[in-house]
Amino acid sequence: MTVPFFAMNQSFSSTLPLIEESLDAFVDQASWVNDKQVRLLEQAIEAYTGAPFAIATGNATDSLIISLLALGIGPDDEVIVPCYSFFASLSCVLHVGATPVFVDIEPGSYGLDCAHVEACITPRTKAIMPVHLFRQMVDMQALKAIAQRHRLLLIEDSAEGIGMRWDGEHAGLIGDIGVLSFFPTKTLGALGDAGMILTRDPLLASRARQIMDNGRDAAGLAQRLGYNSRMDDLQALWLRARMLELEPDIARRAVHCALYDKYLEPLTQWVQRPVTLVRNCPQRTVDYVYLIEVPLRDALAAFLAARHIGTEAYYPLPLHLQPVCEHLGFQAGDLPVAERASTRALGLPLYPDLTPAAIGRVCEAIGEFYAAQGADL
Ligand SMILES: *Cc1c(COP(=O)(O)O)cnc(C)c1O
Repeated sequence: MTVPFFAMNQSFSSTLPLIEESLDAFVDQASWVNDKQVRLLEQAIEAYTGAPFAIATGNATDSLIISLLALGIGPDDEVIVPCYSFFASLSCVLHVGATPVFVDIEPGSYGLDCAHVEACITPRTKAIMPVHLFRQMVDMQALKAIAQRHRLLLIEDSAEGIGMRWDGEHAGLIGDIGVLSFFPTKTLGALGDAGMILTRDPLLASRARQIMDNGRDAAGLAQRLGYNSRMDDLQALWLRARMLELEPDIARRAVHCALYDKYLEPLTQWVQRPVTLVRNCPQRTVDYVYLIEVPLRDALAAFLAARHIGTEAYYPLPLHLQPVCEHLGFQAGDLPVAERASTRALGLPLYPDLTPAAIGRVCEAIGEFYAAQGADL
């Protein structure tokens, strides 16, 4: 039995007829970038998240760069970011000419550890950028208090966060500005790249809308330096159709995770299962990645690959040790919680189309691997 790391063939095929009906009208639009379908998707995301302003973009990496520019962050500014994240958390800060200041992560949530943030604040610190990873949010109550105390901006990388809520508020709407990714593997996936910016601030919203479209305002004048990071209408049409399955998909993901928990429970000696941290505020979690921590992670991944089971190491090298930021002077050992996780964390297949039999097969193979290691592990 083959279990790919990601496959949505069935779900995606069932969405196709929904957009096929609209394709004739779509072709007649005679304008297919950042137009009618994109406005409709923005409205749908505003309704789903409660965002006063949702601005569609080409992808979440661009959304982060645009957000930093809209906030006026640039050279001489420092931005506090977790060292355990996707490359975009680092590159967006470098792109605007600011300096990333890395913070270690909190065990369990893999998000930035609020207990370390204040020690990193300097007179140049302008913003904090938490990243909500895998299944739960950063402690936004603690972080918001720190940001207010030191008058810092808060940018939420909620690229993985669609559906997640903190005290009733959707991810991305607790700080000043936030982003969503619709990369195909994300909880709400396009058939290509697509992203979104969320904010409650009308001024930030209008700046972001201009920067995303070559700096143009509604009258067609270039008000500022911008990019071309517009969303295709075809992706917007697709995403709005996929949104009909968003809540059912989130429920399917949770059922799959419960089954993983059950099948992996007998392997507790070797396999650390994901946990949801108890917070002061109620939160709504969304299972985007089922992340285990294990000894001999790379050997296990190779063993599973040989049995046609796909996995992914999230993240194999923390950001502070990436070659691109060698000049910042971080060294191995500086941020130990993330560095340890980077050698042990492994994402297992998780997507709505997964079957109980496939989950059983993955867990059985993990059990075989550790049984073969003997008692001395
Ligand atoms: C996926 C992801 C991004 C980037 O999203 P794109 O739309 O692919 O640019 C950024 N941050 C995190 C945490 C992500 O998981």
